[in-house]
Amino acid sequence: MDHKPSSRKLEKLFAVKGMNDIVPPDSSRWEALEAEVRTLMAQYAYRNIRTPIVEPTALFVRGTGETTDIVEKEMYSFEDKLNGEALTLRPENTPGVVRAAIEHNLTYDGGKRLYYMGPMFRHERPQRGRYRQFYQLGAEALGFAGPELDVELMLLAQQLFDRLGLKNICLEINSLGVATERHAHRAALIAYFEAHAEYLDADAQRRLHANPLRILDSKNPAMQSLVGQAPQLLSFLGERSLAHFDTVKSLLSACSVAWSINPRLVRGLDYYSHTVFEFVTRELGAQGTLCGGGRYDGLFELLGGKPTPAVGWGMGLVRVLELLQAQVERVPDPALDVYLIVPQPAALAVAMRCAQDLRALGVRALLHASASGATDSMKSQFKKADASGARFALIFGADEVAQGQVVLKSLRDGAGEQSLQPLDKLALWATTLQSRTSVK
Ligand code: ATP
Ligand code: MG
Repeated sequence: MDHKPSSRKLEKLFAVKGMNDIVPPDSSRWEALEAEVRTLMAQYAYRNIRTPIVEPTALFVRGTGETTDIVEKEMYSFEDKLNGEALTLRPENTPGVVRAAIEHNLTYDGGKRLYYMGPMFRHERPQRGRYRQFYQLGAEALGFAGPELDVELMLLAQQLFDRLGLKNICLEINSLGVATERHAHRAALIAYFEAHAEYLDADAQRRLHANPLRILDSKNPAMQSLVGQAPQLLSFLGERSLAHFDTVKSLLSACSVAWSINPRLVRGLDYYSHTVFEFVTRELGAQGTLCGGGRYDGLFELLGGKPTPAVGWGMGLVRVLELLQAQVERVPDPALDVYLIVPQPAALAVAMRCAQDLRALGVRALLHASASGATDSMKSQFKKADASGARFALIFGADEVAQGQVVLKSLRDGAGEQSLQPLDKLALWATTLQSRTSVK
């Protein structure tokens, strides 16, 4: 390639539509959220799993489902130029986690509780709360069949919302029972919609035989009353499915988590069973689902593994942060402790060494750097120090440094106070820094 400098100004490049940069100070909010998540996951004993962002396309065709919006129209798929393999940027991560669990036989010695956090990709129309690269936190419990795990996962999500201080989030639950119950319901649903075929929109007509459950998801206002009166899956559940669902409800209530039943909450795929749930809010406009999950006891087999019960959820972190911004006062960025000012280049080495030593002691320290590469005036260095929010400035004047000393100055409480500090005592000073408000 030709890298000759050109006299023409080059065009700017921009991020791909629907894929956003996260820059400071916003990135601090992400870091704080991620830190909260890690603490919480450790308390629930969920361990981190990291799978590739690119997976074989077949994983999502099978694992997400051929008749889902995701597979029908939202995937970023491409052919590997070298070997022609069909690949896809992950639109969700449950199939990836299950693939990895099968590949590494993760459940050989019992159930595993796992979580992940990372980018997902869907080719959707970008709008508030809906992006083409977005971030999901997911929790998956593999190898547990009982309703207590369904509840544990809901408690985990609820606890995260509570710790973040989020309010007005409702938990909606439903049960999909088992395959035979769903098939009976499906037949009743098809019969019902066929009897009212003239009211079906084009989407619904297309789905009627492929995946009638998905008609229940319809957002078309003209279809709402028809859908509202459709046969409900709950009335097709047998004793065992009802018992599973009853335990879920009573355990949730025992843990003081409010829930309501949403009979239209369905996942139109056969590998789902029993509990499905969503955490929703009305405060984010149309994109109000923060977290969606359910039990997917059939997925392991569908991906070539041994039958393994499993349950999990995925949470949209962009939406969580948007709600946080709307509801919770902003947490201030962590402030700097010390700003190091170096008026003459001769003292640079000592200052750099000192900054390094202070950081090793846990002090948040920033060494002044000029934009031009030349040494900035004391005045402009002080201006930056003030703007940085640091509590103290350390001034590495050549004369003081020659005598093994630096000037320590308060920038905030008791601003202006200053004292001379021996360089070899700075470490001692630093260890008492957290409780200090003045230079004395
Ligand atoms: P929706 O009904 O909003 O399209 P979905 O059913 O496609 O959601 P899931 O596949 O269950 O969503 O993903 C779990 C969560 O991930 C959603 O509840 C949402 O918070 C978030 N999410 C899904 N798609 C996007 C997107 N394009 N941009 C931002 N967040 C998203
Ligand atoms: Mg979607």
